Amino acid sequence: MAATVMTSARRRVASLMLVGVALAAAAAIVTAGLVAVILGGSVSSSSSAGCIPQDITDRVAAMTAGPVNVPGFSSAQLDSARVIVETGRSLDVPDYGLVIAVAVAIQESSLTNIGHGDVAGPDSRGLFQQRAPWGSLADRLDPEQAATMFFTGGHGGQPGLLDIVGWQKMQLGEAAQSVQRSADPLGLWYELHEPVARSLVEKYGGSPVNCALAAELITGDVVLPIHRGAYVLTARWGQRGPRWASGYHTGLDFAAPAGTPIYSIADGQVSSAGMAGPYGNRTMVHGTDGNDLWYCHQSRLEVHTGEQVTAGQLIGFVGSTGNVTGPHLHLEVHLDGGPDSDPAVYLKARGVIP
Ligand SMILES: [Zn+2]
Repeated sequence: MAATVMTSARRRVASLMLVGVALAAAAAIVTAGLVAVILGGSVSSSSSAGCIPQDITDRVAAMTAGPVNVPGFSSAQLDSARVIVETGRSLDVPDYGLVIAVAVAIQESSLTNIGHGDVAGPDSRGLFQQRAPWGSLADRLDPEQAATMFFTGGHGGQPGLLDIVGWQKMQLGEAAQSVQRSADPLGLWYELHEPVARSLVEKYGGSPVNCALAAELITGDVVLPIHRGAYVLTARWGQRGPRWASGYHTGLDFAAPAGTPIYSIADGQVSSAGMAGPYGNRTMVHGTDGNDLWYCHQSRLEVHTGEQVTAGQLIGFVGSTGNVTGPHLHLEVHLDGGPDSDPAVYLKARGVIP
């Protein structure tokens, strides 16, 4: 185990040295010819601890001769960072996700809304240098749309940051690379911009990012119960109406064709699986985080009582058993086994937007 860690660390350091040379060149290009608006101050090495390992932070600091200085940005570049932060916040993205997005945009475009590509991606455009399959040219060149796609995915089904299982616990480079899939396999280019990105997120109202705290709040990886693009939300939790026996809707409805696969949204153990009156074929999972998750109206159940399940595991298929008007998954969340609560809130709190 220790040997693996050492090897990995050595590989990262070696890569960083190569990146360092190129970074100096890139920094010269970025700063040349721009009207510098100094953000002020520098990021001390103590405040940059957290998201990236200390050895990487130290290397970055050493390469740039002391504390990492926040480089000058034009008002247009600062405005790009502001749009990314505000767009992310409107989607309830945790601060660490905002830092990742800003770091990616610094690397990809120097926070400049680029209307041309490069050798690696001749069709890449915009703040995130998204390629043609991601969306229309207009969308990729619209900072708000481009940022939204970075967080929630491309229009061609490309995963966004929030679709990446466990992104909150990844190092910045790995999380960024899971979305960007650039030529840099370890995502170190992105990671080098982390201190600057954090400064920008804080400048636009984010709280100082404490990744250790964020990791603590995330008690398990959580995923969508049905692949994005394969469902439509048809009824929210808390909606009122005569359709529901309790007078209000106790779950979140994902309408999808009968037979669409349903995945466990979290790790846990199946506490019950079978017919349950108006709920139809229902699987109840007692999550490792102590919360109960119900999957209702299934056409077919794929797991049995007592079975352990992991987030993303197939547990059944969409159907229309029980009291329904059409095929859909009715998802219920019972925090700590208590009364039903809003599944959308549960998912968003864990970095997943339904
Ligand atoms: Zn429902």
